[in-house]
Amino acid sequence: MLSKTIEALCSSPGKDKEAFEKLYQLGPVLGKGGFGTVYTGHRVTDKLQVAIKYVCRSRVVDWAQLPGGSRVPLEIALMKKVCAGGGHQGVIRLLDWHETPDGFFLVLERPEPVQDLFDFITERGPLPEELARGFLLQVLEAVRHCHSRGVVHRDIKDENLLLNLSTSDLKLIDFGSGATLKDGMYTDFEGTRVYSPPEWITFRRYHARTAAVWSLGILLYDMVCGDIPFEQDEEIQQAQLCFRTPVSTDCENLIRWCLSPKASERPTLEQIMQHPWTKLGAIWQLKDGYFSRSSGDPTS
Ligand code: ADP
Ligand code: MG
Repeated sequence: MLSKTIEALCSSPGKDKEAFEKLYQLGPVLGKGGFGTVYTGHRVTDKLQVAIKYVCRSRVVDWAQLPGGSRVPLEIALMKKVCAGGGHQGVIRLLDWHETPDGFFLVLERPEPVQDLFDFITERGPLPEELARGFLLQVLEAVRHCHSRGVVHRDIKDENLLLNLSTSDLKLIDFGSGATLKDGMYTDFEGTRVYSPPEWITFRRYHARTAAVWSLGILLYDMVCGDIPFEQDEEIQQAQLCFRTPVSTDCENLIRWCLSPKASERPTLEQIMQHPWTKLGAIWQLKDGYFSRSSGDPTS
């Protein structure tokens, strides 16, 4: 049954399919989207647990050339950049990739036990600020790493963050909307509209870093309030925040700063790191799915 899945994905099975099948076994579906499908799987040689993302060739918009000359979806090229030299603990690693006549298999590391942050927040509601702070710090480090490698993710959101339920580690996934980082203006966007900044909605242009900070503001609001602040374009443009869950003044100030309607007035990633709310440090963590205060808690 498992090999049938691979067969179905390779309309002209041949040595690509055989080579891939020898190396990996596919399991149940983890997620489905416009791009293709993500499966659980394992590497045959050592049973390493992996996730296998299949991307249909026909759906790939942006392509890139690897140093070796292969033409691949930009998603693969960006992941290779962020994973080079061991990568970063806050970014999911691309372990391998395979080309077939109809598409590409991306073999990714798969944390376990895992839940994406969207499902986690949906199940639990607003997170304690201390836990949200620990999560935000991890996301900030991951985003800084991507930028240092010349990659901008462009779809930072709860669904694209995987939470290891036994370690509280978060990992950024899904570089399918990403781009090469540049200082100039971007006029294309394939990320998530409700996480996109007002300058995109109104003028269809934005800068990478200030748009990333806007999405971090949406994410932080989502974590501490249990849902995102804006659904409609007009709400994004007006950027009027209403706190449905009471949060601390410092937290509210940081969110309002990140969600400044004027891009130039938003903080940099470094300023978010240095903000009084962020600087309190992470003292809550998850243990086996439950919140607990970590040892070294300065207030205990
Ligand atoms: P899409 O482009 O559809 O958003 P993603 O790369 O975000 O594709 O993957 C879709 C879903 O599959 C994710 O939200 C997550 O639940 C699951 N998923 C993706 N990568 C992994 C992974 N490495 N380990 C575990 N689950 C994953
Ligand atoms: Mg995604």
